[in-house]
Amino acid sequence: MRRTIFESLLKPPLTEPAPRPDDVEIAELSRKLETAARARLGRSLSIRQVDAGSCNGCELEIHALSNPFYDLERLGLRFVASPRHADVLLVTGPVTKNMSEALLRTYQATPSPKWVVAAGDCAADGGLFCGSYACVGGVAAVLPVDLRIPGCPPSPRALLAGLVALMSTAAAHHGDRPA
Ligand code: SF4
Repeated sequence: MRRTIFESLLKPPLTEPAPRPDDVEIAELSRKLETAARARLGRSLSIRQVDAGSCNGCELEIHALSNPFYDLERLGLRFVASPRHADVLLVTGPVTKNMSEALLRTYQATPSPKWVVAAGDCAADGGLFCGSYACVGGVAAVLPVDLRIPGCPPSPRALLAGLVALMSTAAAHHGDRPA
């Protein structure tokens, strides 16, 4: 025990160093997202994350957007607790049969204009779980998908870049969508 304490005093921390406050790429992506969201919505972007059957690897990366390392809430990106307050549904995982109905109801509860982002390889087409008896497939098997962000899991930077692309190119209204 004494040896462990002594070693921990001498060894450097094993955690990654925090990014510099002036991380240029993150700051630039965040600024673009805020600008595009304000142009489309007149305010910051609100995101409801839905785990449709993920292994939680994708959630770890999504949560990182809010942690002290990235802290994107300071730049306007908001995760909300209800689909009724959301602009974007950020869906992870293959859609399991048990979550299929819940995912559809979440979509129906989200006011228009709304966008659906499939985050990660599983959300794109079922990924590792493609063909499983417990899954119906990727998110597109249940909902109209506006953007797929590849990766297993996608990094916070990839997630952020995807949201910027979505806000920059998506149509403002999806009136022809199922309610
Ligand atoms: S894409 Fe990878 S990390 Fe994300 S839910 Fe699938 S297996 Fe897990």
